[in-house]
Amino acid sequence: MSSLGIENQILSCTMADRFESKTDEVMALCPACKSFETVYLNNDKLIKNRKFTQFGSHIYHDCGSNYPCRLYMTS
Ligand SMILES: [Zn+2]
Repeated sequence: MSSLGIENQILSCTMADRFESKTDEVMALCPACKSFETVYLNNDKLIKNRKFTQFGSHIYHDCGSNYPCRLYMTS
């Protein structure tokens, strides 16, 4: 019974992702080190990324930059 419950949970999460989430692919340009990389936003929130951190409405590169990355929409 317990394994069936887990399966149902995974299925409902997948359905929610498909219908409610909006993922955007954007290019982030770090003004400090000029690194230019693709990051993904889900409903305007940064999807967990090893190199970038979101504070409020800005995304900061992990090189130690005090300036937020410039973001460019790719589509
Ligand atoms: Zn940087």
